[in-house]
Amino acid sequence: MPIKGVKICGARCRTKGGAPCAGPAMKNGRCRMHGGVYSRLEKHGRSTLRAKAERRQERAFLKELEILTKDIERINNGPAQNS
Ligand SMILES: [Zn+2]
Repeated sequence: MPIKGVKICGARCRTKGGAPCAGPAMKNGRCRMHGGVYSRLEKHGRSTLRAKAERRQERAFLKELEILTKDIERINNGPAQNS
């Protein structure tokens, strides 16, 4: 049942013969049944979206550092070995 002032979920509902679900929606525009993992966003733990994003950023940062370190090593070692 739609609630006034609250966004409703527009997912097609199998139990209603394809009609929109019309449950109260979360920030992503889907209700708790159709919103996927969005509702777990603010919970603690390894599998939250925020934690995943943070780990991804950290990995990218570490990879960049690794590449930079290799570059520096190459710059430092290169001329010394040649001369
Ligand atoms: Zn729904």
